[in-house]
Amino acid sequence: TRQFFVGGNWKLNPTSLSKAKELVEVLNKADLDPNTEVVIGVPSLYLIPVSEAVTKKQILISAENSYYKESGAYTGEISASQLKDAGIPYVILGHSERRTIFHETSEVVALKTRAALDAGLKVILCIGETLTQREGGETAKVCEEQLAAVVKQIKESHIFVEPILTIHYSNIVIAYEPVWAIGTGKVATTAQAQETHVDVRAYLAKAVSTTVASEVRVIYGGSVNAANSGDLGAQQDIDGFLVGGASLKPEFVDIINARK
Ligand code: 13P
Repeated sequence: TRQFFVGGNWKLNPTSLSKAKELVEVLNKADLDPNTEVVIGVPSLYLIPVSEAVTKKQILISAENSYYKESGAYTGEISASQLKDAGIPYVILGHSERRTIFHETSEVVALKTRAALDAGLKVILCIGETLTQREGGETAKVCEEQLAAVVKQIKESHIFVEPILTIHYSNIVIAYEPVWAIGTGKVATTAQAQETHVDVRAYLAKAVSTTVASEVRVIYGGSVNAANSGDLGAQQDIDGFLVGGASLKPEFVDIINARK
C-alpha cells in the first residue's frame, strides 16, 4: 500500500517571511488526515525559518531545487548535502518551470536526482508533457524519456542489486504534471491522469522492476483544488498531489484530506 502524499509547491511565493509563517500557522492549526504525508515546497531563503515554524511532525519541508555538485564555484546554487545538513528532507526536481524557464534538460534533472538521493534526500521528481506533445499523442513517450534519464543515472550510481534499487526508488515520488494543466485551471481528467500514471508504472516495470513499479508513489499536479481532488484521489494509481496555487490557500487542507 502506498501512503497518500500531498505536496504543496509554493514556487516563488509568498513575498515575505511573515506571510510564509501565516501559511504554516494555518496547517499547524488544521485537522489533517493522519494517513496523508504532507510536504511543503518552500523558497530556499525560507526553508529554515519555515521548518522551525512547523509544529506538526506530519508536515515535512522540501526545497524546490538543488544542484548536483556538493560544493565549489557554482554561484547561487544550493547543494543536496547542504539541504540534508540543514534538516530539510525533500527536494522538488525537474519541475516544468525549471525545465522551461531555466532550461534544465532531462540529463541535468537526472544528475540532480542522483546527487540528491546520494545525499540522503527524498526527491519529488516532476515529469509531464506540453499541450503540443499531448495532442501529438506523445504523452507516454515524453514521460518515459524524462524518467529514462533518471533510471540511467540511478543504475550507474549503484550496483544493480534489487534491494538497493528498491530503496532508492522508495525515496522518489514521481509527480506527473502535464504542462498544460499547470496554473491554467485546466485540470487533467481523472481518466487522463490515471492512464498516464499506469503508463509510468508500465515503463518502470520494464526499465527497473515490477516491485518498484507497484511501490513507487505517482502523484498528480496541475490545477488541483478542493473541488477536483476527491475524484482524482480516488483513482487507483493516483497516490496524491503536487499543488501549486491552491497550496497558498486554506483549501490546501481540504486537498490533504481529499481521500475519504
Ligand atoms: P498549480 O496547482 O498552480 O496548477 O501548479 C501545479 C504545480 O506546478 C505544482 O508543482
